[in-house]
Amino acid sequence: MSEDVKHEERSLNFLEEIVENDLSAGRYKSIVTRFPPEPNGYLHIGHATSICLNFGLTKRFGGYTNLRFDDTNPVTEETEYVESIKGDVRWLGFEWKNELYASDYFGKLYEFALVLIKAGLAYVDDSSSEEIAAMKGTPTEPGRNSSFRDRSIEENIGLFERMKAGEFGDGSRTLRAKIDMAHTNMLMRDPILYRIKHAHHHRTGDQWCIYPMYDFAHGQSDSIEEVTHSICTLEFVPHRELYDWLISKLGIYPSHQYEFARRNLTYTVMSKRKLLQLVTEKHVTGWDDPRMPTISGMRRRGYTAAAIREFCDRVGIAKRDNIVDVGLLEFFVREDLNKKAQRRMVVFDPVKVVITNYTAAEEFLSSENNPEDPAGGERQLPLSAEIYIEREDFMENPPKKYFRLAPGQMVRLKSAYIIRCDEVIKDADGNVTELHCSYLPESKSGSDTSGINVKGTLHWVSVKHAVTAEIRLYDRLFKVEDPSSEEGDFKDYINPASLEVLKSVYMEPDMKHASFDQPFQFIRKGYFTLDRDSSTSGLVFNRTVGLKDGWKPDAKAQPKK
Ligand code: ATP
Ligand code: MG
Repeated sequence: MSEDVKHEERSLNFLEEIVENDLSAGRYKSIVTRFPPEPNGYLHIGHATSICLNFGLTKRFGGYTNLRFDDTNPVTEETEYVESIKGDVRWLGFEWKNELYASDYFGKLYEFALVLIKAGLAYVDDSSSEEIAAMKGTPTEPGRNSSFRDRSIEENIGLFERMKAGEFGDGSRTLRAKIDMAHTNMLMRDPILYRIKHAHHHRTGDQWCIYPMYDFAHGQSDSIEEVTHSICTLEFVPHRELYDWLISKLGIYPSHQYEFARRNLTYTVMSKRKLLQLVTEKHVTGWDDPRMPTISGMRRRGYTAAAIREFCDRVGIAKRDNIVDVGLLEFFVREDLNKKAQRRMVVFDPVKVVITNYTAAEEFLSSENNPEDPAGGERQLPLSAEIYIEREDFMENPPKKYFRLAPGQMVRLKSAYIIRCDEVIKDADGNVTELHCSYLPESKSGSDTSGINVKGTLHWVSVKHAVTAEIRLYDRLFKVEDPSSEEGDFKDYINPASLEVLKSVYMEPDMKHASFDQPFQFIRKGYFTLDRDSSTSGLVFNRTVGLKDGWKPDAKAQPKK
């Protein structure tokens, strides 16, 4: 994607067009959207798309966005998830107008159910879930009416009240809407509205033992909040008819549902159920493992909120399911970090260089923090007679056009001097242990009068000033583009080499002062950020992303069949 294309105003996506048309036609004075996570896991990059979309609409067109926890299932929900979700939405840069909980509407929803019962539009069914499923029919065959369908209104009211009072066991009765068992939309064949579940709820405790189903909570919550545009993913298209039916029969605020395609990304999985398995079965260290597609994992890895927002905005939304190349997300991360990350020198695999004619104890050289950022400033970089360079930056018998260090050859040390390799020291086995070099005092960066032009510039670290750190290098978590669509279990496709740890690398001393969420570019290595496992006894850095898109599928890493 070229710079000029990127910074042009993009065209409206189809939901923005809908909202713009609604506003210009005067259908609404202003709009209300909501982001409605179920607090049963951590948010992932798919949720980020929904967040950017919902908050983006009201940012662009005015109005406001609520954060509503869709907490109608008492069994899977936890307060830990509520807190992480709030933190992630804020970190992404959005502020909601109201923090709401579907469970706060349990009383109102119960009243709505009574309204339907009294209108003859809902009934208590004593059939088991298996019996209900068996009577449902198929897309080509109509279903059958339950023998409990024609109960009197009084009997239904009495039974529903007793369901609420806890008189019946789990699954023994349900409340169903009375619509049409021959309806072409299977979801309209007397859908279940309430079920009995004697379970503790994270907010309402043991107050309720009947819980509304998704279809009887979501649209009604939208309506209570006067949400104008209720945006969800494509799998809810068939639910829209029921959404509209319930709102119209109850005569409540007419919220409208709109659908877009889920965000899928290559080389990962996105369902919370699958992500939970990765966590509980310890394939990763937690929800915020830097290899996870969660917002907290991406943050810990060093992705910026700005890059994620830009990705969501630029990739846009679709009306058909698709899978986006994770390389595109990395492109936006790299682009943002290039502007923000301070440059540092870090040697991963060292060989010692002794500068034999360097007589000073030490010297401090100025080095630019970020050539892309005029306000980035400079830092002081210590040099002494012994430095480390990267082992791969030396070759004893180089080919032609090798511009790094070799016997008799000169290179520039970044922000310092030109050195020439005079002597190669080896151990008994012939391994290079030290390189003896001389430097040109008149070649200092910024005031070079040597007149010598060298093609190679190397990063280096002064031995006596260096600090050591652990480095974690990450690769794709899965070996195949779409693990969920492969045969067998998605976990069979986990990449066993997704984490490589370098126990001890050598850094400029300045890195002691690194702080969390601060991006760095280790020159010639990639972008890195401090990991929260760091302590005063040891620094740990995560590689956020490489400098270039150098990743290619590994022929050996194909899935086992
Ligand atoms: P999952 O299948 O990952 O558990 P979910 O849809 O059950 O996802 P919710 O917590 O119910 O997760 O989702 C909250 C909001 O985020 C919903 O509006 C949902 O449509 C949206 N959302 C969830 N996953 C994606 C995705 N992959 N792409 C876009 N939007 C998503
Ligand atoms: Mg859900």
